[in-house]
Amino acid sequence: MKRYLLFGLVLLLMLTGCKKNENQIVMVTEAGFAPYEYYENGEIVGVDIDIAKEIADYLGKELVVKDVAFDSIINEINSGKASFGAAGMSITPERLLEVDFSIEYVVSNQVVMVRDDSDITKDKINGKKIAVQLGSVADSYAEDNYKDSEIVRQKKYLSMVEDLKAKKVDLIIMDNLPAMEIVKENSGLKILDGYLFSDSYGIAVKKGNTELLNDINTVLRRLMDEGKIEEYIINHSE
Ligand code: GLN
Repeated sequence: MKRYLLFGLVLLLMLTGCKKNENQIVMVTEAGFAPYEYYENGEIVGVDIDIAKEIADYLGKELVVKDVAFDSIINEINSGKASFGAAGMSITPERLLEVDFSIEYVVSNQVVMVRDDSDITKDKINGKKIAVQLGSVADSYAEDNYKDSEIVRQKKYLSMVEDLKAKKVDLIIMDNLPAMEIVKENSGLKILDGYLFSDSYGIAVKKGNTELLNDINTVLRRLMDEGKIEEYIINHSE
């Protein structure tokens, strides 16, 4: 008898759990990447969240935003814990082996951040101590191009900035707009002129999830046609 009761309870929980999930769509991100995703008054906001809200609206669902380490995003999508990932995530051949990407919605440049008094130039990076975000395109770029450098991989940009200020590393390689936000918020740091390479952001879904991908692309195309993405970037960059 007890066993049946327990079974019934579990079944009920599962059913109510499923029902709730049907009205929601989960997006996964790493919310330490202003202006794309960051905390404001305890809430995750940003360009990617504005886009994701439009996607959720289009699907008639409520958006749930999940914050994880950047290098866990693909796993969250593939294990079904999240339906899509939006995290200023660059479309790369390696990632395309693991997930499908939407059309590009932002073009980004990878820049070099140093201390104000630094004499490092873009052609003098090899051999210097470099900080990158674990699993980012900057991480693999540094690995491939600066063989004499020690690479310090962090989960959070904030920790990289602390290390740079404390002279534990010589430079950070990262995306230009988030770098500009950091320089605005922290004195004593600057971004070198020019950039190392360009990359394009896409929204990631589980391989073969073309239905969701088509919906995401429809929303992205409309937002781009209406100039909304530039608008979101301006709104979140002040
Ligand atoms: N655009 C970079 C990448 O995809 C960094 C993204 C991020 O840190 N959120 O690797």
